[in-house]
Amino acid sequence: MIIYGDYHTHTVFTHGKGTIEDNVKWAVKKGLKQIAICEHSFSHMAYGIKRKDVPVMRAEIERLKKIYDIDILLGIESNIMSIDGKIDVTKEEQDMFDVIVVGYHKSFKPSSLKDFFTFFLPNTFKIFKQSKKRVQKNTMAYINAIKNNKIDILAHLSAEGCTVDPVEIAKVAKEYNTYIELNGKRIKFSDQQIKDMIKTGVKFIINSDAHSPERVGENNRAFNIIEKYKIPHEQVANLDKIPVLKNFNNKN
Ligand SMILES: [Zn+2]
Ligand SMILES: [Zn+2]
Repeated sequence: MIIYGDYHTHTVFTHGKGTIEDNVKWAVKKGLKQIAICEHSFSHMAYGIKRKDVPVMRAEIERLKKIYDIDILLGIESNIMSIDGKIDVTKEEQDMFDVIVVGYHKSFKPSSLKDFFTFFLPNTFKIFKQSKKRVQKNTMAYINAIKNNKIDILAHLSAEGCTVDPVEIAKVAKEYNTYIELNGKRIKFSDQQIKDMIKTGVKFIINSDAHSPERVGENNRAFNIIEKYKIPHEQVANLDKIPVLKNFNNKN
């Protein structure tokens, strides 16, 4: 079993260690057929890319595509920002990217006072317990985000203090062909949650979330889970095959 592509890798445009070319070189070395450069989005207070970086990254990708024999995709790791499912890449901006990954990050900049009090504050600070009600609200945030945006992948669910019910999210993700990431560094699912997610028929995708080039394509954690829970291989979008990505496949 091998992965055909890695759709979540960082570079020096945010807090990764390598350039886009470094990540591409390692992806080629590891035998991948596709790689996405997927930086933190605009509202990430510490590392978010600037809107003016997007054409610079696209131009560099176009240059590298002529040199290396691999598909190079421009992705974005967008921040989920509110219970009604707002993400920090607008519908118009979503067209600029080949892959839309969405995740919760503590350090996103809320876009309204309401979102600050109802979503940012209770998830960012540990003093607010992740009560059952809170988990329900966070789960709704993801479900609304899936319904209102063209999201390819949900990154590291329940990480960074924003706990969700991944099974309820998986039911909707299946319906909308959104993949649930098995992240190279953080997988926060319980045994039961993984078993119940498999039953929904949702598809998973293996991503490294590499912040240094040599970690591109890293998949040990995900492979262990696939074997342990016997996840059917056809339920893992990039295992022994190229995944269908809503954004990329609509453009090509
Ligand atoms: Zn992330
Ligand atoms: Zn990331």
